[in-house]
Amino acid sequence: RSDAAAAALADSCTTALQAQGAPCTVVRSEKQGLGIFASRHIRAGEVVAVEKPTVLTPCWAAAASVCATCLRRAPDDQDWPLRCNRCGVICWCSSECRVVLALVHDGMECEALSTWHAAGHPAIKYADLVLQAIRMLSMKALGIQVHPFPASPQQCGFDSYRDRLCAIARDRRTAKPIEETARAALEAMPVAGRIAPAVLIDALGRHQCNVYGVTGPAAAEVALASFTGLFQLFNHSCLPNILFDSMPTRRFLRSDGETAASSSSKSDGWPFFQLVAFTDIPAGAELLHSYARSADGPELRRSTLRDHYGFECDCPRCECDPLREADIAAQLEERRCPYDDCGSGLGVPVAPKEAAGPGDLRCVHCNSTWEPEY
Ligand SMILES: [Zn+2]
Ligand SMILES: [Zn+2]
Ligand SMILES: [Zn+2]
Ligand SMILES: [Zn+2]
Repeated sequence: RSDAAAAALADSCTTALQAQGAPCTVVRSEKQGLGIFASRHIRAGEVVAVEKPTVLTPCWAAAASVCATCLRRAPDDQDWPLRCNRCGVICWCSSECRVVLALVHDGMECEALSTWHAAGHPAIKYADLVLQAIRMLSMKALGIQVHPFPASPQQCGFDSYRDRLCAIARDRRTAKPIEETARAALEAMPVAGRIAPAVLIDALGRHQCNVYGVTGPAAAEVALASFTGLFQLFNHSCLPNILFDSMPTRRFLRSDGETAASSSSKSDGWPFFQLVAFTDIPAGAELLHSYARSADGPELRRSTLRDHYGFECDCPRCECDPLREADIAAQLEERRCPYDDCGSGLGVPVAPKEAAGPGDLRCVHCNSTWEPEY
């Protein structure tokens, strides 16, 4: 991105971090570009930053059992009984959640999903991304903006993709999914909601490397959440010191570093998400999370990063020898959720502020807690 755009983005993200009392700050360097660094010592389990996704949509396979607004899962793997009777795709946990989504769903999005569903298109490989694209188009048509930060007036909408997100170099590996997604979404949209394919393809190209997978027990994909505020500035390491917490939250950081329930004036019913410290992080260290699955081996991680994010990973873990890699993998496994019906998420300390020593861990995929064995 251009120097002026990077400086403006760094400024707005610094403001957003300060407003929520986050223990980190934006640093801009000639060589590395933008990154987020600890402004004080951070303890494992502390919330590092919170943000509301600009676009939050359920994954196709989970749409019947996950509330499209708050992502609450129906008990015992049942389907939610409250389902949109027009498109038949979107479900809610409550009439409150239905009302929140009505603003963006009840017009073009519902019509587009009906068309797409009726035509049997959900079978395409990129169905989850198509749901995101249809939501993006509906938000653009309606001029809907999201307030991504709890204590800041900043807004993000469709245009934020162009203004705030840098594009990865698209090559043949990433071009096809994006073009197919754009075509499917535009075909389904009512005419009034269509835009030039090139504009949508550009937005999706920026979007796809800034979308976080919300993951449930046993690594099941629950929803896609794209962030155009500051979550995009956290850089990658295969040996992360922060984790994306798949549990939506309505609590956010206060300026004193504690979390507080959002007051009604600041909450429009949409959930926030948080990044949580996985390890203790010394002041001045960069906060890094893993764009690839930390349980994957080096080859798989590197090809994921190459194909979806357009870079060759040269993090310390990727550069180390096989013995050290096995060691790192074993250490990560010690923090893996021990429950049979999950087993996929890593654990973060439940109570970071309490006296030193290991406390209970909480799984970032299923929210269960356990006492680690040391
Ligand atoms: Zn709900
Ligand atoms: Zn509908
Ligand atoms: Zn790596
Ligand atoms: Zn779990």
